[in-house]
Amino acid sequence: MDTQLYDTVIVGGGPAGLNGALYLGRSRRRVLLIDSGDARNMAAGVMHNVLTNDGATIADFRARSRAQLAAYDVTFRDDEVVSAERDGDHVVVTTKESGTFRARTLLYAAGVRSVLPPVPGLADLWGKTVLECPYCHAWEVRDRSFAVYGGSVPSECLAATLTVWSDRITYLTDRRELPQDELGRLTAAGVPVVHDRVGEVKSHPEGVEVVFEDGRSASYGALFLHLDTEPRVAPLRPWLQAPDLESVQTDERGRTGLPRLYVAGDLGRNMQQAAMAAASGGLAGMAINADLIREDRPGSLPEPPPPAPAP
Ligand SMILES: Cc1cc2nc3c(=O)[nH]c(=O)nc-3n(C[C@H](O)[C@H](O)[C@H](O)COP(=O)(O)OP(=O)(O)OC[C@H]3O[C@@H](n4cnc5c(N)ncnc54)[C@H](O)[C@@H]3O)c2cc1C
Repeated sequence: MDTQLYDTVIVGGGPAGLNGALYLGRSRRRVLLIDSGDARNMAAGVMHNVLTNDGATIADFRARSRAQLAAYDVTFRDDEVVSAERDGDHVVVTTKESGTFRARTLLYAAGVRSVLPPVPGLADLWGKTVLECPYCHAWEVRDRSFAVYGGSVPSECLAATLTVWSDRITYLTDRRELPQDELGRLTAAGVPVVHDRVGEVKSHPEGVEVVFEDGRSASYGALFLHLDTEPRVAPLRPWLQAPDLESVQTDERGRTGLPRLYVAGDLGRNMQQAAMAAASGGLAGMAINADLIREDRPGSLPEPPPPAPAP
């Protein structure tokens, strides 16, 4: 067991955790960042919409971030956190391989997992020609034809948004019955609907080939879809008794209803984008620093504003 007492252990080395580490490191805090290296956007390989990093590979972004953090008291562990719990005034964090660590606070920035619908072939093309976020990916495939898969999560607003990047968009329902308002929005957007059952999705020189159950197929430049996500909160059980961290987050700085636990990034109440994740990590870093000052010098800072109601 590492006998040091860290000010903060950060779980997750994506934009949220890294920027939290930067704020805390620059606040002279002793930080341990533990990361298992499988970020949500790894399938895409590169990131967009982050100034000075537009088109940077995720690996390079992370490596350069870590290099900059070397100037501060930030230690990295490439490992997986298996549990994190409160023990009086401390948090005890246990990893798969490097043992147990103690800290005064925990910044939990482990992100979410995207859950793909069970269409054969979809997972193989995920992040390449099967995409979700128009702002992240549509520029690269602009003016090609798009399929928008609406067979699991309604995606008609995604289809309407994509009309900025293509005027050849087809909405695939995969036999899901569309409610009237969804159909109405598709009609208003000028997006035709194909109701056939999707059998498989394959790579195609043009981008992606959709093979319907009846054997017909159609090719598109890219396929977009909205996805469900799963919060990566398993290590917080049983400390966290809520289904997710969003419901226990009490302010925009990542404080939660659970003392010493802070949240940032895709897991919190944030828009799920890299720059927003980084911003939320910075906000949480400031909240942690201020709360530690409150603890060390009682009365020196006013209490944070009362919790805001959940959205
Ligand atoms: C395919 C795809 C492409 C995307 N492209 C873009 C884009 O171009 N631009 C953009 O702004 N947004 C993009 N996004 C969204 C973006 O990836 C997220 O908003 C952003 O990564 C969230 O940052 P985060 O730090 O919260 O989580 P993540 O970046 O997911 O990082 C979380 C980290 O926590 C680690 N972790 C999880 N559990 C544990 C554990 N138990 N122990 C230790 N470590 C753990 C993971 O290994 C991971 O490294 C994309 C998303 C997807 C799915």
